[in-house]
Amino acid sequence: MSLIVQKYGGTSVGSPDRIDRVADRIAETSGDGHDVVVVVSAMGKTTDDLIDLAETIHPDPPKREMDMLLTAGERISMALCAMAVEKRGVGAVSFTGSQAGILTDASHGSARIVEITGTRVKEALAEGRVVIIGGMQGVDPLKKEVTTLGRGGSDATAVAVAAALGADACEIYTDVDGVYTADPRIVPDARKIDEISFAEMLEMAAAGAGVLMSRAVEFGRRFNIPIHVRSSFHDRTGTWVKENTMEQAVISGVAHDRSEAKVTVRSVPDHPGVAAAVFEPLAEAGINLDMIVQNIARDGSTDISFTAPISSIDKAETIAKATAEALGAEGVSVERGVGKVSLVGAGMKSHPGVAAKVFSTLSDEGINIEMISTSTIRISCVVDATRLDDAVKALHAAFELGEAAEEVVTA
Ligand code: ASP
Ligand code: MG
Repeated sequence: MSLIVQKYGGTSVGSPDRIDRVADRIAETSGDGHDVVVVVSAMGKTTDDLIDLAETIHPDPPKREMDMLLTAGERISMALCAMAVEKRGVGAVSFTGSQAGILTDASHGSARIVEITGTRVKEALAEGRVVIIGGMQGVDPLKKEVTTLGRGGSDATAVAVAAALGADACEIYTDVDGVYTADPRIVPDARKIDEISFAEMLEMAAAGAGVLMSRAVEFGRRFNIPIHVRSSFHDRTGTWVKENTMEQAVISGVAHDRSEAKVTVRSVPDHPGVAAAVFEPLAEAGINLDMIVQNIARDGSTDISFTAPISSIDKAETIAKATAEALGAEGVSVERGVGKVSLVGAGMKSHPGVAAKVFSTLSDEGINIEMISTSTIRISCVVDATRLDDAVKALHAAFELGEAAEEVVTA
């Protein structure tokens, strides 16, 4: 007998009809003799609507109350799903994150899971019931406060629960067929990827591929839980995210991200401690930076640029301006109209020339590169937002990702 964790996203539980379809699948999995734990997101756009609602009441709502509000979304869908499963003659019980023993730290809105006790979950499973858990939420056991993990957090709940219960697999049901070589809305011949490694998926997710939250992939990797990303609308196989994939394409895919902006601190004096002076106050303000570039100094001063989420860019600008003044820098410029395109593939480690090909492809398209950053398996370029789609299309074509990619068998 195996234990399966299934997570259903907002679209999959977006209406009573869809909840019925989800319940059919849950009942079927249970009928096949598996123990089933389900994690649900809030219905449809509920989370967005609740955020809008809060902001009409308070421009900067207290974080604790935001968590109280947002967790209501998942509570609605978990109860409705449990009812729909019960209607099919299968015993089901819903639990909040707190009832399921999902213990987190105290950071409202971006809490980290520290432990999952799962006592009531295990008891209910032992009684032969399907357990349905509200995603994205937990409880800080010290302050006894309800917390949320952040946007897309239900994915992380599902994989963490799968790890804690020793599940055989974690299925993430969504409204797309799996992970694609690029966003099919931009690149019509994008292909579904059959298998991708945790490391590559982590890079894809961090680079903007919205299909899976990166913290969920981190859990998968840490506890070696294979993740199956698949559609809730049909039975076809989706994308398996796992440790060792049999066949390794040189390049897995192209991801893009429109959610960041670029800040440049101009002409800061070039001496030890300056980068620390720029970045420490940003860190203290909890601003998540992505790319950082410092140019070669000329005449004793240099430019430092970084990207940060658009949602925190006003804060970042204010802080950077204060630092620039204190350091005697020339000033701060902010560019909101930028986008990031990333090419990801484990094969680039052993295939020279990938970076050169990225740059020549963008140059042939007349696309100017504003910033570059790399990891061993990713190359990212910041470009003008108006050229982002062109950049994605050009790279997808140049690396022939639409056709069955060149395959290299790795041991
Ligand atoms: N409903 C939450 C959100 O939209 C959590 C999730 O769907 O994963 O962020
Ligand atoms: Mg999601």
